[in-house]
Amino acid sequence: MIIGVLKEPSNETRVSLLPEAVIQLTKKGIRVLIENNAGARAFAPDEDYQNAGALISSAREIIQEADVILSIQQPNSDLLIPNNKILIGTFQPLYHPQSVQEWAQAGLTVFSLDMLPRTTRAQSMDVLSSQANIAGYKAVLLAANLYPRYFPMFMTAAGTIAPAKVLILGAGVAGLQAIATARRLGAVVEVFDTRPAVKEEVISLGAKFVEVDGAADASKAGGYAVEQTEEYKLRQQQRIAESIAKADIVITTAQIPGKKAPILIEEEMLNKMRKGSIVIDIAAKTGGNTPFTIDNETVIYKGVSIVGAGNLPATMPSDASKVYGKNIQNFLQLITNKEGNLNLNWDDDLVQGSCITHNGEIVHERLKMNVQ
Ligand code: NAD
Repeated sequence: MIIGVLKEPSNETRVSLLPEAVIQLTKKGIRVLIENNAGARAFAPDEDYQNAGALISSAREIIQEADVILSIQQPNSDLLIPNNKILIGTFQPLYHPQSVQEWAQAGLTVFSLDMLPRTTRAQSMDVLSSQANIAGYKAVLLAANLYPRYFPMFMTAAGTIAPAKVLILGAGVAGLQAIATARRLGAVVEVFDTRPAVKEEVISLGAKFVEVDGAADASKAGGYAVEQTEEYKLRQQQRIAESIAKADIVITTAQIPGKKAPILIEEEMLNKMRKGSIVIDIAAKTGGNTPFTIDNETVIYKGVSIVGAGNLPATMPSDASKVYGKNIQNFLQLITNKEGNLNLNWDDDLVQGSCITHNGEIVHERLKMNVQ
């Protein structure tokens, strides 16, 4: 089998395989082609890939010769990938129904790893988790860097400094890592999530859980959040408003797959925040959790910095690519046999759950509903 790695678009610094992953794959007899300079922004020069056993190629050679093509973001549409190829990445198909139609028409077999079921068996290939972990960590460091005050409490001869108050909205993978990081820096942390199931984890990390009664039942949504009733949203807003007014830093991570991110911080809540306060909005890519969020930009609203941070993993390209590559290797193991040849088991829930198009058709249940 031949695997090809494409260079990412200019707004991306990560790469889907680092040389260390190439060594593992070539040991199994898999040939690896790397587009020239694909790893440069993740500090992996072509020379390192060559030393790992890969061949440096052009994008055109890769799409012709590779059986499996890897890229994190969607490849440039000018690159006409021939049919019968397998494309693996993190393509957010729920937000891109047009691309899904095009993949089916082009006869591509596309796996999007962000669609993998969030089960225990899928954990080792769960790209959302490996990257969200980085986002949560980096969100806190970014906030600490922008915040004009200390994070920890200090009692010094020059006076006493109160600890920063951090509010984290959404306690998924990113939110939990943000709690741990903010606590390590000495902040006092409060957390809100519509899923009451996360309360214990939040408390075990040393944060306080903000309670709002009456959330919609999300037990059948695979662990994801579901949309809430208007009555609940109103109560939630009132309760969050109280915490926001006291917070120095708010980290927002609330996302609902396939939908626009919910607005959790309304304008009047921002009006009550102290000047110099910081909002880091990890949900910026799907619209953001404030009305003013712009992805990849910092908007100053009445002295409050609102940072649109939709792709924080790209600010840590080495480790982000390392763990992403490990996820890919584990997924490749699922779809190949011991000899390193393709072996797609369509009865496997992970294969079914991540495959978007195959044999000229849209095969993923959620996407079929989306496109109709
Ligand atoms: P996510 O990025 O989809 O969302 C972030 C968090 O925001 C979630 O906790 C969500 O409940 C919360 N949220 C959504 N709307 C909100 C609102 N209006 N107000 C406040 N919070 C809101 O989450 P994720 O990190 O991708 O995790 C999604 C689920 O998958 C979680 O249940 C997580 O525990 C689970 N998970 C399971 C595995 C596994 O077992 N393999 C691995 C990772 C994650």
